[in-house]
This record gives sequence, structure tokens and C-alpha cells, in this order.
Amino acid sequence: MTTGSLLRSLECAACGRGHDADRVQGVCAACGKPLFCRYDLARARASLTPATFAARGSSLWRWRELLPVRDARAVADLGESTTPLIELPELAAELGVGRLRLKEEGTLPTGSFKARGMAVAISRARELGVRGVFLPSAGNAGGAAAAYGRRAGLEVRVWLPEETPAANRMETEALGARVARVPGHIGDAGRRAREEAGRDGLFDLSTLREPYRLEGKRTMGLELFEAGLPTAIVYPAGGGTGLIALWKVFAELRELGWLEAAPPRLFVVQAEGCAPVVRAFREGLAASPPVADPRTIASGLRVPAALGDFLMLRAVRESGGDAEAVSDATLLETMGALSSRTGVLLCPEGAAALAAVPALARRGKLGPLDDVVVFHTASGLKYREAWEAALARSEGPGA
Ligand SMILES: *Cc1c(COP(=O)(O)O)cnc(C)c1O
Ligand SMILES: [Zn+2]
Repeated sequence: MTTGSLLRSLECAACGRGHDADRVQGVCAACGKPLFCRYDLARARASLTPATFAARGSSLWRWRELLPVRDARAVADLGESTTPLIELPELAAELGVGRLRLKEEGTLPTGSFKARGMAVAISRARELGVRGVFLPSAGNAGGAAAAYGRRAGLEVRVWLPEETPAANRMETEALGARVARVPGHIGDAGRRAREEAGRDGLFDLSTLREPYRLEGKRTMGLELFEAGLPTAIVYPAGGGTGLIALWKVFAELRELGWLEAAPPRLFVVQAEGCAPVVRAFREGLAASPPVADPRTIASGLRVPAALGDFLMLRAVRESGGDAEAVSDATLLETMGALSSRTGVLLCPEGAAALAAVPALARRGKLGPLDDVVVFHTASGLKYREAWEAALARSEGPGA
């Protein structure tokens, strides 16, 4: 039973070297950078239209020709489907932007957008004969890997930094993955994971160290395209798969001839205590120097060095976007103030993105002509520790 996937090859995003897509692959064999999937878009153009997908309902797998899994029996499905766009008209008026919406990714399986990448990567790993996977995770990737790994019957091992929110650790364990906790940040966890799991012959599912999580994240861009693209996207970035995936899929839509207008400008948001990409953007660098002591309560943003930093920077620059860093104090305040106003229980990463909008508007980067989509990347319910801090602030002295 074929999905009709039009996957053709893998190509290094840095040096362009081709790789066989139907063998297990990690990073580029020549330069160690991430591999991109390439599809037969000429054939897609001849045989498909946007209406083809719209007629198939709301499952992520309705995009199957433009995803890498070839055998429908390999698909690990937990009901991942289109996420809502929530209008924030009062806030838009207050901030002086034309339109403001949240892309609410907390409705996905395991409560975060990591489900998109893991659904596709785990299915593809199973299809290629992988028996077990490992990864370091700031939290949500571990939970999603555990869930889809269970569905696919793969062994899953996850290395978590000690500061990872308790909910992430518990869900990962509860879903049957083996969990190790590591002092330090996700980079430290990654080094430990590669030392310890690499020996056991498990497959490395770390961010951008295999080609297929990125492909699943492209469905964020496909959904926005289906709904009508905004002019600007504000995105809280850590490892960068989301931003890179958006930029990749917008280029593919142009090649398909389905997108003629300019794609949305991409705005990258990070936490002040860990903002390597924001800093590199402002300094005009092509890659980001690592952050020595990354600190932020937004665990998904605590990524001091990203393999795909150059791709994030390229995406933001080529799209005409910009970069903004938000302090933990501001993001905690935003969680408290805007959850109660909007009815959306904010996660710290999504709150950081939302908190960047006023700053971007003040700098004239966003304005009345903009239709802005802010990515709200996870359910606020997963963040007990951050919520305790946010509520303590809003109930603080004098309240
Ligand atoms: C992983 C994560 C991010 C960062 O996403 P990338 O696309 O990897 O940069 C943001 N928010 C949440 C909630 C996350 O789990
Ligand atoms: Zn290469």
C-alpha cells in the first residue's frame, strides 16, 4: 500500500552532495551538515493541486505525496491533524498590527508541535528498518518520540537535561521510553546520548541529525498555505526545525507554482538568556557562536548551539524578517497577563513569541498592513514550574 510519496533524494543543505533516500541516513557524509529531502515537484505539479489535499480532511497524512514515507503501513498515527488559528483582534488593535492570530499547536498529540516531526521521522525510521532510536530533548521532543515510538514498536531512549519540566519527564517515561537525566543543557545531554546510545546501535533522532523530523514540521507551512498565508510569522526557535521547515516548504510551494506572492517574513524569537541566533542575526554572522551558560525557563528555547543555525539565519534573512530576544521576566508576565485575556493557556515558548510582537511593532518591523501568525508551540498544561513562577509574579506584592 503506497502513499504515493514523491520523495526522490536527499541533498546536503550546505554542500549540495546527494545521498540515497532509501537507506538510513543521518547528516551529510561529506560535511556533517543536515540533509534535505528533495521531491519530484514537476510530477507533483502535473498530478496534484491544492484542492487534492483539501478534499482529504484534516490529518497530517493528507500531504502524503509531499512527505517522505512511502509505505502506508509504516505510518504511526496518533490523530495528528490541522491545528487551529485563534484570532486576537483586541490585541492586534492595541499593538497596531492589522491582524494577529495564534497557531495553536497544543492540540497535537502529546501537546506540542514536536508531534509533527516525530510522526514522520518515526514512521520513516520504521519503514527503513530501524529498530530503536535515541535523542537528547529539552522535553517535548522526548515525549513525542516516546509516543510515536510506542505506536511503531521501536525502542526509544531519551536524555533529558536535569531542568526539564517534570511533565515532560513523566510523559516520556509513562509512554515507555528509557529516560536518563543529565546535568547541564541539551548540548550536554546530546553528547552523553551519542556516547552511550551510539554504542548500542540505536539511530540518532537528534534535531537535524536525521532528515525527516524537518519534513513533518513542513506541514505547519502547508496548513498556513491552505488557510491563506499571513504576511509575517513569529516563531520561538531553539534547534530551529520549525523555521527551517517553513522556509523550505514555502520555496517548494513556489516551485510547484502554487504560491506566486512573496512568502511570509519569518521572525525568530529567543530568550535573552539563550539567544545565539538573535545575536548572530544582529551581528551579521552566517552562524551563531555557542552560548556558554544558557539560562531560560522556556525549556524549548534553551539550545546554546544549533546544527541548523546557518539555515535559520538564511531563512530569516532571505524572507526579510528580523530577530528579537525576550527576557524571562517579560515572558512570565506575558503568560500571566495574556492567558487570562485570550483564553489560551500559554506555554513559555509561545509566550516569548507573543511578547516579541510589541517590540517588533515598536521597531516598525510589524505594522497595520501585517497579518501576523504567532506560533504557540505547546500546551501550557505541560509547564507546572513556569506557571508557578508566572502566577507568583501576578499575585506578587501589592496584588
Ligand atoms: C522544541 C520547542 C521549540 C523550539 O522549536 P524548534 O523548531 O526546534 O526551534 C519551541 N517551543 C516548544 C514548546 C518546543 O518544544
Ligand atoms: Zn554536505
